[in-house]
Amino acid sequence: MQVFPEKPLAWGKARSCIRELAEYGWSRREEIGAENVFDFSLGNPSIPAPAGVNAAIAELIRGDSVALHGYTTAAGVLSLRQRIAEDYGEGFGIALEPNHIYVTCGAAAGLAISLRALLVAPGDEVVALAPFFPEYRVFTEASGGTLVTSQPRFSDFQLDPEAFERSLGPRTRAVIINSPNNPSGVILSRESLSALASAMRRQSEKNGAPIWLICDEPYRELAYDGAEVPSAFGVYDDTVLCYSFSKSMSIPGERIGYLAVGPKASYAGEAYAAIMGAGRALGYVNPPSLFQRVVERCIGQTADVSKYLENRNLLLGGLREIGYECIEPQGAFYLFVKSPEPDAKAFSERAKKYELLLVPSDDFGTPGYVRLAYCVSKDMISRAMPAFRALMAEYK
Ligand code: PLP
Repeated sequence: MQVFPEKPLAWGKARSCIRELAEYGWSRREEIGAENVFDFSLGNPSIPAPAGVNAAIAELIRGDSVALHGYTTAAGVLSLRQRIAEDYGEGFGIALEPNHIYVTCGAAAGLAISLRALLVAPGDEVVALAPFFPEYRVFTEASGGTLVTSQPRFSDFQLDPEAFERSLGPRTRAVIINSPNNPSGVILSRESLSALASAMRRQSEKNGAPIWLICDEPYRELAYDGAEVPSAFGVYDDTVLCYSFSKSMSIPGERIGYLAVGPKASYAGEAYAAIMGAGRALGYVNPPSLFQRVVERCIGQTADVSKYLENRNLLLGGLREIGYECIEPQGAFYLFVKSPEPDAKAFSERAKKYELLLVPSDDFGTPGYVRLAYCVSKDMISRAMPAFRALMAEYK
């Protein structure tokens, strides 16, 4: 007898390869000492939140405690949504409506809500540009959809327009992009975005229904060397943005972000109503009240992301010098490295001999690579270099 539904049971039992490696790292630290483990597995920010965050908490907790800890409106307090709209307008020159913004428990909740709101029938297809955040598959399947993968142009990990065109079809309801990207660090260029938008418009016309662009942007402020992260709203109208303060403010444990429906989206009012309904159905109403007020006060402040740039340069330079083939990250805090053997899982296993914890890319939808999260100490990166060199020597 089937006691529990098959999929949630499988998702609960399957261990994410990132978590599995991180747990291995924790036990290894106990065994051989933290200084001897080179753990590049987890994307947990390593830089403190901007000082304004703690200052805002201190100020808020001196105020009316009942109001502070009480329920807010389901979509989040209006003054925060107004502040988000204002900030987005200042940054991107695009006017958002507070009434089309829904405050969420991070980008994860934003994605789960969007997919629940936008998928209509079982088997609706969601195209994810690979490599992608593995949870897209879970969120899509939880909403009855099927995830379809579109591989990048391998020379620079930008859009491969032909591969993308082939991935679209009569059942496509949504496309998910993530830029700056986890795991490649690549920022989708304007050219990539406009080729993607043109293909989506053509297919929407054929389908007689909009294909939604879900733009997952938790790393928006983590862009290096002045790289531009273009706003998808300016390129494609039927866009839903999933943003998070987790990485920009280094507060991932506080679970706060937002969803915004494109100001020129077709059926924008209904799309927003479906988002409200999906949030309700999933129990994602009223994200943490204290942190709604904290981010309202701190919007525009970011953690000192220049530290990640220093790490990127150190790691990228060091690994290239040893002979690793790396995709140059333009943002986020991940480095995608080609596995010197075709099987990235075997390479990741071999790396463990040198206490290097590197995540194999299979679950990111593009096999044959490993992901290194460099939100770690600079010192650890320097100390890991001899281990990377010894590992590569095995392939020479
Ligand atoms: N999307 C991507 C690409 C991520 O890397 C993450 C977290 O690492 C998330 C979404 C979820 O972020 P959060 O729910 O903390 O905002």
